Amino acid sequence: MADQRNFDDRDGWIWFDGKLVPWREAQVHVLSHALHYASSIFEGQRAYNGEIFKLTEHSQRLRKSAELLGFEIPWSVEQLNQACKEVLKANNLVDAYMRPVAWRGSESMGVTAPDAPPHVAIAAWEWGKYFDPGKAERGLRFDIAPYRRPAPYTAPVHSKASGLYMICTLSRQHAEKRGYDDALMFDWRGQVAEATGANAFFIRDGELHTPTPDCFLNGITRQTLMDLARKRGIPVIERAIWPEELETFQQMFITGSAAEVTFVGSAGPWNFEVGDMSRQLAKDYDDLVNGRLANA
Ligand code: PMP
Repeated sequence: MADQRNFDDRDGWIWFDGKLVPWREAQVHVLSHALHYASSIFEGQRAYNGEIFKLTEHSQRLRKSAELLGFEIPWSVEQLNQACKEVLKANNLVDAYMRPVAWRGSESMGVTAPDAPPHVAIAAWEWGKYFDPGKAERGLRFDIAPYRRPAPYTAPVHSKASGLYMICTLSRQHAEKRGYDDALMFDWRGQVAEATGANAFFIRDGELHTPTPDCFLNGITRQTLMDLARKRGIPVIERAIWPEELETFQQMFITGSAAEVTFVGSAGPWNFEVGDMSRQLAKDYDDLVNGRLANA
């Protein structure tokens, strides 16, 4: 059973700047730069049967996200991989969600940032499905988000930066207050972009369509799913998708390390069915992460 207490009050070990510390001692100061100016980036990854899926890709993206915010993580991809494995082992976890995070600390205060290396921490815990499995099986109900993904010239959009999640939290909360499960976000041009924490896919007449990730994360799950679809001979079309087109799609699902492959039954006024192709791809993904398919 997963621990239901606050996230700062649990048993276990967290990797913190190079060593494992007791969970409750993994603390930051209130005058941390990250807390005031959002100089923080993170990863979300899952371990299945003791293996962290696409670990190297996640460690590479952690370093890349930091670089896009102007700081360099003082640990190599290899060292980060090793640290993630240590965290899993120290906490006796085999199926887990993992959260590496890097941030500017309290070395200085002000908009300009110190050249000091950032801090890095890695936590892991048991976390079931990201969405209610019953609702997901029927297809989630999506609202249309009040916020749009920003233009690449207004924010470091390819960084998994905490600051970029402000509009995701607001959009998801707005959706939940209105009785929806999540929201579909458009981008600054008005094109279909993604969900608040996952990428979006659509199926029409046996073809898979997905928006070009030019102002949001090109998710690791997204790339995996596209490979799985191509392996099945499904045409994969990455392109600009306008909302007017949504009524022409028969199926929709979202992908993410936390969300995995989750079916969507409606987005705003547009309805979708949970169809065979979505189910097949969700199964392929499940088989792959659980080691029942050769690595995509
Ligand atoms: N977009 C957003 C906003 C996300 O938070 C995530 C989850 N990291 C994704 C897309 C999917 O990324 P990935 O498949 O690499 O987890």
